[in-house]
Amino acid sequence: MAVDLHLHSNASDGTDAPGIVVQKAAAIHLTAIALTDHDTLFGIPEAQADAANLPIELIPGVELSVDHHGVKIHMLAYFLEPGPGPLQDRLEMLRDGRGVRNKKIIEALNQLGYPITMQDVHRFAAGDAVGRPHIADALVAAEMVADRSEAFRDLLGDGGPAYAERDRLTATEAINLTTESGGVTSIAHPLTIDPGTVTLRSIFEDLREVGLSGIEAFYSEHPPHIRTQLAGVAAELDLVATGGSDCHGTGKPGLEIGTGHGDLVVPDSALEELKARRP
Ligand code: AMP
Ligand code: ZN
Ligand code: FE
Ligand code: FE
Repeated sequence: MAVDLHLHSNASDGTDAPGIVVQKAAAIHLTAIALTDHDTLFGIPEAQADAANLPIELIPGVELSVDHHGVKIHMLAYFLEPGPGPLQDRLEMLRDGRGVRNKKIIEALNQLGYPITMQDVHRFAAGDAVGRPHIADALVAAEMVADRSEAFRDLLGDGGPAYAERDRLTATEAINLTTESGGVTSIAHPLTIDPGTVTLRSIFEDLREVGLSGIEAFYSEHPPHIRTQLAGVAAELDLVATGGSDCHGTGKPGLEIGTGHGDLVVPDSALEELKARRP
């Protein structure tokens, strides 16, 4: 039996409602899923309500964009209940930072000759974590680009002409806040990290020292031999090899819940081992 510990809903930049994500996962007989929207737990109550009526466990989670000495990392945090809490409260500040940054991106787009407004963008966001994918959706709707990919490639991607930075937690802050909130962390899609002058392994070691629990070895975009290799590194470093599809509904075409591009299997043991690391 399998799990999927990395899923997005329309609470952030996925396209399915949280309850639909749960229903689709239950329909393919996954044992458990984690909903890990960017910077928000907004979708968790709806997902929990659907999971309560189905033979599937729902793990509340979130995906954070963090910085480790200039290296950009995505961090998955699990077992976080909506409501007040150390990380929960900080998420609110991060979402405020998104608002500031979205305004900068829209101003840059306007300067470049793409006359979209914040109102246009908000039409595509069902939740409270509004970001570049929703700006991309507004550009697509105005027929200024063909799809989200083209919007990122030509305008919104990191360092692109309409790119703007936003506030980030450091990786250490994210791990500490998660621990204080009763959760555990795993480094998302490690192969997308550009470690610069250090090694990925040294980053894993640094962050294990401050309480990191896992690395996402079983990831859709990792070729099979990389999944095996990263699971080996996790074992060597006493970290859990976690995994998930990163399905965004139609927001990232070709990525399915549970199976990714068709060949992904995340063992139940990944979740069991994560549970054993809860503070
Ligand atoms: P933001 O959180 O606002 O910085 O937007 C980043 C998110 O956009 C990432 O987490 C991805 O889910 C999504 N994204 C990045 N590149 C692409 C792309 N080429 N096509 C579709 N979505 C993308
Ligand atoms: Zn996303
Ligand atoms: Fe990510
Ligand atoms: Fe993700």
